[in-house]
Amino acid sequence: MDRLFINNTRKKQAKQLINEMTILRHELIQLEQKLEHIQRQCHHQFLETTTMRKCKICHYTESLHY
Ligand SMILES: [Zn+2]
Repeated sequence: MDRLFINNTRKKQAKQLINEMTILRHELIQLEQKLEHIQRQCHHQFLETTTMRKCKICHYTESLHY
């Protein structure tokens, strides 16, 4: 394989990865918003540890450190 071919392949792969990451970031934001919506409407039932508490319904977590 010549250098030009390798460079072109890398260029294509890099571009493809950037495209996929852009799509996944967008999906991640949407999923975070969905979860946030559920957590906002939840009547939390917290399970407490010494450092944090976590809702056993929606998995919302709060640190108990100030
Ligand atoms: Zn909750």
